[in-house]
Amino acid sequence: MKNLLALIGLISLFAPNAFAASATPLAGAAPLDSATLLADVRTLSAPELAGRRTGSEGSKMAQVYIARRFEQIGIKPFGANYAMPFAFTSLRGQVKTEYPAALNLVGHIRGSVHPERYMVVSAHYDHLGVQKGAAYLGADDNASGVAAMLAVAAYFKQNPPQNTIVFAAFDAEELGHHGARALVKAAPFPIANVALNLNFDMVSRNDKNEIYAAGTRYTPSLKPLVAKAAASSSVKVRLGHDSKVPGAPPDDDWTGQSDHAVFHEAGIAFLYFGVEDHADYHQPSDSFEKIDPTFFAEVARLLVSAAAILDQNLDTLK
Ligand SMILES: [Zn+2]
Repeated sequence: MKNLLALIGLISLFAPNAFAASATPLAGAAPLDSATLLADVRTLSAPELAGRRTGSEGSKMAQVYIARRFEQIGIKPFGANYAMPFAFTSLRGQVKTEYPAALNLVGHIRGSVHPERYMVVSAHYDHLGVQKGAAYLGADDNASGVAAMLAVAAYFKQNPPQNTIVFAAFDAEELGHHGARALVKAAPFPIANVALNLNFDMVSRNDKNEIYAAGTRYTPSLKPLVAKAAASSSVKVRLGHDSKVPGAPPDDDWTGQSDHAVFHEAGIAFLYFGVEDHADYHQPSDSFEKIDPTFFAEVARLLVSAAAILDQNLDTLK
């Protein structure tokens, strides 16, 4: 109860506009409520949530916040509510750790033309938590992706999608993509009908004003759709980080680097948006203050636009 009260305090402190319908249309394609976008990322990366480690009190506060935002936007749960609990064992070297109470938040907006065809928009909400007394706040990684996913959901609520769009806030990505594994293994919808996973992980800052779209190497028919979304953005959209480049370090290929990897392994096309690592990557200093609000809003607008274009062309993916 104490934590819930603290969370409500947080919402009123940081997110005065989070729930107001104050959409500000920006120039170009999709409208975006940038105040809400920033309020979401600020709340999820607040020190009170202490880095949202799987199983922690801060993680539970994040769950309450995300569920409340899903409800406000009007995303429908598949069952009684958005919560999809799961358990897993993480193995790091010789150290086995049980996580009995991990939890994904999953909902959907039903397609108006092809409700039987699905696009899963995902972002992980967990991060590294507290280590050696320092809270790893995970603002860019990945409060930013969750906030962008919520912006996409708000767009589709106002502009009904052709296909059914699933929104998945994944837990336990940092521990090995366990949230995505849990969903793909026991999805409350036919996983064979998923045409695309659109995954966001680290989308709020970049010194070069650029973001990568990875996955088009496996699904070249995504390329013109990404290009169409990129055409109206002031952020430079680069394709890549989805192949092994001779001489480059192994982590230069992002195919296995976030939750989209699980969809890829299941034979599902993916498109992943994310920035290159920065000095604060996996550091306690990955905080709200380091986010670039202008870049982030522009990227969110790009992601909304990309999601809309993908929905309209989901049948062209092969
Ligand atoms: Zn991440």
